[in-house]
Amino acid sequence: MSAPRLLVDVHTHVYLPRYAAFLRSRASVPRIFTRTSPEGRQEERLLILDDEPSGGRPIGAQYWDRDEKLKFMDRHAIDVSVVSSANPWLDFLPASTAHKLAGELNDDLETYCSSGPALASLSGVKRLYGFGLLPLVPEATTEAIVSTIEQIAKLPHLKGVIMGTRGLGRGLDDDALEPVWAAIEKAGLVVFLHPHYGVDKNAWGEKENGHVLPLALGFPFETTIATTRLILSGVFDRYPNLRLLLAHSGGALPQLSSRLASCIEHDPLVASRLAHDARFYLGKLYFDAVAYGSEELGFVSDAIGRADKYARAGASAAVSGVKAAGADGGEQRRVGSRRMLFGTDHPFFPPLGATEKWKSVVENLEAIEGVWGWTEAEKDAVRGGNAFSLFGLGS
Ligand code: URA
Ligand code: ZN
Repeated sequence: MSAPRLLVDVHTHVYLPRYAAFLRSRASVPRIFTRTSPEGRQEERLLILDDEPSGGRPIGAQYWDRDEKLKFMDRHAIDVSVVSSANPWLDFLPASTAHKLAGELNDDLETYCSSGPALASLSGVKRLYGFGLLPLVPEATTEAIVSTIEQIAKLPHLKGVIMGTRGLGRGLDDDALEPVWAAIEKAGLVVFLHPHYGVDKNAWGEKENGHVLPLALGFPFETTIATTRLILSGVFDRYPNLRLLLAHSGGALPQLSSRLASCIEHDPLVASRLAHDARFYLGKLYFDAVAYGSEELGFVSDAIGRADKYARAGASAAVSGVKAAGADGGEQRRVGSRRMLFGTDHPFFPPLGATEKWKSVVENLEAIEGVWGWTEAEKDAVRGGNAFSLFGLGS
C-alpha cells in the first residue's frame, strides 16, 4: 500500500494502568506518590530518576488514560500513535517479576490499541499501535526474553519493543544478547532505543538546574554511547536486517560519527572487527525527529544520507538504501530523510500554561517544515510515510 499523508507519532509514551498501580504500591524510586501541593490540593507526583529534583514531576491521567492520549492526538491532528511504555520500564525488577509483568503489560498494550478507534480516513488502519516490553534485567534467562519476543510478535498491534540501554546489566553489546538480537530480527520487530539513566551525575556540577542537564544532555548522550557500543560490537554486521529506531534523533551520534570513524581507524583491534567505516552504520538506523530544530534535523539527515559512501570496498555491503555516489548535498539530505520519523515525547514536556497546543509538538512539526532541501514529499514521509512503511501499518 502506498503511504498516505498521515501524521504518525512514533515517540509517545504511556504508563499503562497496571504499571501506574504498581508504581503507586512502591516505597522507593521509581514510584508515584501523593502529596499536598503548595495550594493545598492532593496531587500525584512521579519519581523515576535517582536524586530527582523538586520532589519529582507532576503526573496525571494523560500518562495512563487512553482517552487523554486520543484527545492529545486530536488536538494536534496526529492520526496514528505508536505508543511505548515510558522509562524505567522493568529495569528495577527481579527477573521473575519482570518476566510476568512484561507478559501482562504486552497484553494490556495490545488491548489498549486493538480496542481503540480505527482511522476514519483509511480502512484497515487503527489509530494506536505499540512497542512491547522485554524483561531485560540482570539474571533474566534467554528463554524468558525470547519467549516474550515471540509473544509480542503474535500481538498484531505491537510492532516492536522499547528498550533501555542496560540490557542484562552489562549494556547492549553484551555477548549474552546475541540470541535476543537474532530473535528480534527474525520476528521483524523494530527496536525503539530509549534512554533513562543519562550519564554520571557528577558531570552536572553543584548548581540547581532542575531537570535541564540530565534531560537535555544526559539522555541523548546515553543513547549515543549505547548505539556506539552496538556499532563497535559488530551487531549491525551480524544482524543486517535488525531495525533500530533511536530516540531524540540519535543524540550526538550524527555529530560525532566522523570522529568515531577516525578513532576506530587508529585502533586496528576495533577496525578489523567491523565490516565498514562507522559512518556506514548510520544509514542502517532510524532516527526519530524529536530534535526541536530544522538545522539539527537537516544535519542528521545529511549524516544518514552519506552512509553508503562509507561502505568498505570488498565487504558485502548490506546496502542501507542510500545511493550516495555522485549525489550532491541536496540529494544526500533528501535520501537521509527516509529514515527519520516524527515524534512528540508526549506526555512529557507538557505546556507550562494552559495553552491549546503543546510546544514540543508545534516545535517538532515546525522543525520538519523548515528543513532546507526537503521537498513536500520528504516532509510528508518524515511526518508519517516513513512510519507507515517501517511498521507496515495497514498491511
Ligand atoms: N522523556 C521521556 O521519555 N522520559 C523522561 O523521563 C523525560 C522525557
Ligand atoms: Zn521519550
